[in-house]
Amino acid sequence: MTQAMHLILIIEDEPAIRAVLRVLLESQGYRVAEADTALRAEIEARTHKPDLLLIDLGLPDADGLKVIRRVRAWSQVPIVVLSARTMEEQKIAALDAGADDYVTKPFSAPELLARLRAALRRDLHGASASAVLDFASVHIDLARREARGAEGELHLTPLEYRVLACLARHLGSIVMQRQLIREVWGPDRQDDSRSLRVCIKNLRSKLEPDPRQPRYLITETGLGYRLRADSGSPVVGELR
Ligand code: CA
Repeated sequence: MTQAMHLILIIEDEPAIRAVLRVLLESQGYRVAEADTALRAEIEARTHKPDLLLIDLGLPDADGLKVIRRVRAWSQVPIVVLSARTMEEQKIAALDAGADDYVTKPFSAPELLARLRAALRRDLHGASASAVLDFASVHIDLARREARGAEGELHLTPLEYRVLACLARHLGSIVMQRQLIREVWGPDRQDDSRSLRVCIKNLRSKLEPDPRQPRYLITETGLGYRLRADSGSPVVGELR
């Protein structure tokens, strides 16, 4: 199990939820540290240098957002929020503060574990790595800019490759619309969400078995997009 020995810091003030999370994470081979306040969270993060922070936002002494911002000032450690706050603005605030992903309570254990794996994998391979991606009947090599479908070669435009590459760097996690536009079109086009929507629509028509019911290129309403793949290798070089 590749995630064995990864240390996850659980920041959560509810003892019952901490206990559930500990059992769940330890069952997957993770090591676990705990913090029940914002203050404790920072101390634990600095002393134990965890591989990932799983953080509740409603903490007794400070908002979890504050912890995220403070940790981000000195660390790129993956941060996944686990919160009962379900409003879009609240998710945006957490992602803006520097969180990598956001899972709402009540949570599904398999979904939470998948998000944690995605966040850890991204950290392991770094944000600049290219990817080989497999969807239902489509295989894409982002480094070579080659795509194959059931009927042979598939043509993707340079913009489509760039959008896909940006999503692939965060495989399994949310990428904010703003971030996608900035990385693909540049900072001058921040308000041009239409180009992005058109690009996503075209990508879906090429990648998705049923573009009207996307399985791989998922819309996160009000936030951005999330890419899933049947298999994805974040580092092309290792495959050759
Ligand atoms: Ca709480």
